[in-house]
Amino acid sequence: MVRSHGPRGDRAPPAGGQPHEVRRRPRLRRGAEGGLGAVQAGGRTEPGRDGLRGDDRQAPGQGHPLRDGHRREPDAALTALKRLGIRPDEVDVVLSTHLHWDHAGGFTRLSPGGQVEVTFPKARHYVQRREWDFALDSDPRSRAAYLADDFVPVADAGLVEFVDGDAEILPGVELRLTGGHTPGNQVVIFRSGELAAAMTGDLIGTTPHLRRAWNSGGDLDVVRALQEKGRLLDEAAAHRWLLVLGHESEQAAGYVSPEGEWTPEPGLRA
Ligand SMILES: [Zn+2]
Repeated sequence: MVRSHGPRGDRAPPAGGQPHEVRRRPRLRRGAEGGLGAVQAGGRTEPGRDGLRGDDRQAPGQGHPLRDGHRREPDAALTALKRLGIRPDEVDVVLSTHLHWDHAGGFTRLSPGGQVEVTFPKARHYVQRREWDFALDSDPRSRAAYLADDFVPVADAGLVEFVDGDAEILPGVELRLTGGHTPGNQVVIFRSGELAAAMTGDLIGTTPHLRRAWNSGGDLDVVRALQEKGRLLDEAAAHRWLLVLGHESEQAAGYVSPEGEWTPEPGLRA
């Protein structure tokens, strides 16, 4: 049973009914982090962390970036799942905060033969509709950050679930549309009784970004990003939410006080 606060649940159709051309791109690994926000399998949810940023080349005037740029492989996420005894085809939900290549790059992977394939072939991938639309037709500044091979094959496989706004996609698993960083940026919130954990993505990328006025240089709507970050920090401090920061390599998970002090969760150090 899936509940939601807004219209959602329809699957993405194949792109215009046309075969989508997917070309091979060089394999590139960046650090040990997986690009996925979280994956869920068999009732267990395993948060990943959003990864590193990077530059890329783009096709001028084209909605789809060239395929000769960077891509992120989901090696770290797959290794972590394997450690838990979970196969990729056992994962049933995949979540990420937005579709930038360093956050959605694990949606697909290169097969041994060099073909782009969906990493979790039975998982529903929840994406804000406005993020999807923007990713396919973004502005010149953002275009290099979206790689069609990361997410279009997922839609071609019928595995995208569009979300419009806030939604509870499973009991205790909430998506909160924040915008700011990108038009369809979302925060993922997990709740269990009085406990909650939020995956901040690029809304709070690293511990310096816990300062309310320090935003990401990649934010498209700075004011909204700061407003949503302030709201999240207020809630996290008031209710002792566990925050998992999208780009923090040393102290990725922890708690923030009303005064802005960061206390890492010792059981979840990188
Ligand atoms: Zn981003």
